[in-house]
Amino acid sequence: MMRTALIGAVAFAALVACTTVPPSQGLVDQYVDDARRIAGEDLKFLMPVCNPQPAVRAAPSAAMDESLAKLINQPPPEPGQAFDNLYYVGATWVSAWVLKTSEGLILIDALNNTQEATHLIEGGMRRLGLDPAQIRYVLVTHGHGDHYGGAQMIADRYRARIVASEIDWKMMETGLEFDSKMWDRPPRRDIAVRDGETLTLGDTTVRFMITPGHTLGTISPVFDVRDGGRVHKAMIWGGTSFNFGRDMGRLDGYIAQTERMRELAAQWGIDVPLSNHPGFDGTVAKLKARATAAPGANPFVSGQPVVDRAMRVLNTCARAQKTRFLLTAQAGSGPLYVTATDDLGPIAAHPDDDDHVLAGLLALAAPQEAKPTAFPFSMLVSALK
Ligand SMILES: [Zn+2]
Repeated sequence: MMRTALIGAVAFAALVACTTVPPSQGLVDQYVDDARRIAGEDLKFLMPVCNPQPAVRAAPSAAMDESLAKLINQPPPEPGQAFDNLYYVGATWVSAWVLKTSEGLILIDALNNTQEATHLIEGGMRRLGLDPAQIRYVLVTHGHGDHYGGAQMIADRYRARIVASEIDWKMMETGLEFDSKMWDRPPRRDIAVRDGETLTLGDTTVRFMITPGHTLGTISPVFDVRDGGRVHKAMIWGGTSFNFGRDMGRLDGYIAQTERMRELAAQWGIDVPLSNHPGFDGTVAKLKARATAAPGANPFVSGQPVVDRAMRVLNTCARAQKTRFLLTAQAGSGPLYVTATDDLGPIAAHPDDDDHVLAGLLALAAPQEAKPTAFPFSMLVSALK
């Protein structure tokens, strides 16, 4: 299966490489039109990803604090239940999900700061009949403050372990990409996971797919969700926007990862596309619809073809943005490839995207054999019971 997927990917990349057209505004427009067509009505909330992005990443400033404060201070949605084992306790701007297992809870993202996490995560959980003291793990999908802000408080208060990718732990320790006084400090390094590794807590296994782009160590978790007797497979896309400036390595990564996850989503039967920002998956409207849906009908179950289209929309928007940056680079405004880390290998300047994409795809098409990570905390908890 993987072999077929790999051959398919290589054939596709080779085809694209042979037909590469020089960057032009017409090509940008074509990508954006394609993305809009693929998104249709049901995925149009992804289209802001296709908007032109600045060449320079936003630096800390009073203006950024102010716009973050506005986002954070929007009236929050009601907490709600998406599946028998998945709950939403997030804000209007950024998500927090609770995955319920037979041996405790996994919190996926921790909002901007202690105050927000206390109000929405702890408060929301209590309203939904969930006990925050049962949180065993806090997964930080990527190292930006809107996802880690409340993580240390939750971990300290409930003796939970914090999970992030090695690459983003390093980034949180040595140099934040973004910072704001609206955010609590990054959590202290705890469990680091690599691509394909899994966490099993009771009856539930979460697989951590590292999907670099938005950050270099973005985690897109994949796990089963249940509705009545039916089991579905969900993926939370762990980082969506291209807010990293003119960094072609990241766009190449993003293009490769959306292709890889598109293949894997088909193989694994992922039929529930989720996000860590509710604006990118329609969470709030779906929660409302689910509350009144007939038994067996769940608006979060979009189906595998929709997951496929979602990956294609993001992929096509990344290609549009890459073409925009190639155009401005042709006008002589600076280096193209500014990302080069040990983790991803050196990335050389190259005028043509698809060689990079192909290299990324080949490296990642066969994920490391998944090794269960040792997670001693659940044993510790049973010992203390
Ligand atoms: Zn982010």
